[in-house]
Amino acid sequence: MPLKHYLLTPGPTPVPERVALAMAGPIPHHRAPAFEALFAEVREGLKWLYGTKQDVLTFASSGSGAMEGAIVNFFEPGDAIATVNGGKFGERWGKIGKAYGLEVHELNVAWGHAVDPALVEAALRENPRIRAVCVQASESSTGVAHPVREIAAVTGKTDALCIVDAVSALGTMPLPMDEWGIDVLLTGSQKALMLPPGLAFGAASEKAWKRNETAALPRFYFDWRRERDMQRKNQTAWTPAISLVVGLAEVLRWLKEMTLPEVYARHERLAKASRAAMEAIGCELFAKRPVVSLTTVVSPGGIDSDKLVKTLKTKYGVTLVGGQDAAKGKIFRIAHLGYFDDLDIVVAVAAIERALADHGWKAKPFGTGVGAALEVMATAEAK
Ligand SMILES: *Cc1c(COP(=O)(O)O)cnc(C)c1O
Repeated sequence: MPLKHYLLTPGPTPVPERVALAMAGPIPHHRAPAFEALFAEVREGLKWLYGTKQDVLTFASSGSGAMEGAIVNFFEPGDAIATVNGGKFGERWGKIGKAYGLEVHELNVAWGHAVDPALVEAALRENPRIRAVCVQASESSTGVAHPVREIAAVTGKTDALCIVDAVSALGTMPLPMDEWGIDVLLTGSQKALMLPPGLAFGAASEKAWKRNETAALPRFYFDWRRERDMQRKNQTAWTPAISLVVGLAEVLRWLKEMTLPEVYARHERLAKASRAAMEAIGCELFAKRPVVSLTTVVSPGGIDSDKLVKTLKTKYGVTLVGGQDAAKGKIFRIAHLGYFDDLDIVVAVAAIERALADHGWKAKPFGTGVGAALEVMATAEAK
């Protein structure tokens, strides 16, 4: 059994010591002035992170709660929506929409590919009843970045809303909500925000809030208007996940110290290093338009990626995830979003080189992937 463990999954992600320590203190009462002051700080920080003047609402739920909220707050029963389905999370948009009786037009995209904004434009033109386009900024099941900026530009010329699930994207890449014209932007705590699972976040544009005035789908816990009215008073409608909010305040302070351009540059560098490493050892990348938050790799030599993932965990202490559905047994995913630095990638790549060899596949000498990763890191530093 390995002595040390390394978590490189697209949620949950490692929690920095600084944040864990902040959360270890006594729990303040959520109606006490001290919590209200902290929540005011968090609300301001979230607006900064989102690049928006709108309220960014905090919910006690996993990320999917914000996805559900993004549906139930903005539509009438029977409304038509378009969803980009190129993976598990895109598929989830369709499931939520159907659960609430919406007419779902799925724009199917082959796994590993990004949606073409022209396809979105054509769907809206052909079916003017479509009232929103729901998409992932980062489709975590395939490692693909959908072109949300371009999609927002398309919906911006119509009455349709652009609804973006950025659960594994926000905090890894720029997603300035107001500047890009994103109408609903949501994320969760356990990815790039370096917190344990349990918080979800959502913000809506003027256009979306206007729609909300008449939106009649049933909702209760995820009623964004009630929540907004409370959160503007630095209160929450229900008991918040207090310790996570305390941790979030610490995360936002730290992100401000690091500065967002630096945070995005680090994610970019880790992604480039991971891709270079995998290509150097002869592996094929799965995502045609890869995100910076994770690297998806086709398991070489017909090795069952689930077995590879098991070896990585049990023998080397490195937790990665394999593929789901169509990609099950075929791909593995190296996540590097949130609390990750250069040498974490070196560890993961080294373990992958060893584990592949354990499964009988060794195309290049040990260290080939690690060397390629180090080259990328050194080059990035020299710039
Ligand atoms: C993790 C994730 C979610 C939310 O999943 P939960 O398990 O509900 O937190 C939603 N979308 C994407 C793209 C994700 O990666």
